[in-house]
Amino acid sequence: MAIKDVLPRLRNERGLTQEDLASRLFITRQAVSRWECGETTPGIDMTKLIARELDVPVTELLEMPDHYCQSCGMMFTGPDQHGHEANGAEVADLCRWCYDDGAWVEDISMEDMIEDCAPRMAEAVGWSVDECASLMGAVLPTLRRWRDDAAEDAFK
Ligand SMILES: [Zn+2]
Repeated sequence: MAIKDVLPRLRNERGLTQEDLASRLFITRQAVSRWECGETTPGIDMTKLIARELDVPVTELLEMPDHYCQSCGMMFTGPDQHGHEANGAEVADLCRWCYDDGAWVEDISMEDMIEDCAPRMAEAVGWSVDECASLMGAVLPTLRRWRDDAAEDAFK
């Protein structure tokens, strides 16, 4: 869902006016109004601030594709992109570059994955490497691979 659709709803649910939200974000009411009209879209760092102010995961404010890899965040755009279990069964929510033959392809930390992918993503989408790293840093902690790691750590 686009931010112009989701932002007014979240803001109203919290009883905030455009002015309230603007002052919390150190911007003008007009800027909030432009996002809600769909005239402009906040950048990724601002989107992260908005998510923090509204206390929602940043993915709720981003136009996330319906199906993406729950390890690297890559969108599935065609067949043969999914990973497989050791018995050959396809894994619906992981790409084959992350998970195949029943195991993670690479034992990598989330930070390393971001550093590894950000330059390639930057080239693909035409953003700066910092913006891509910022986006991945917001999205990856919400994905299954990294949530599971966090849950395991909590039981150590
Ligand atoms: Zn992946």
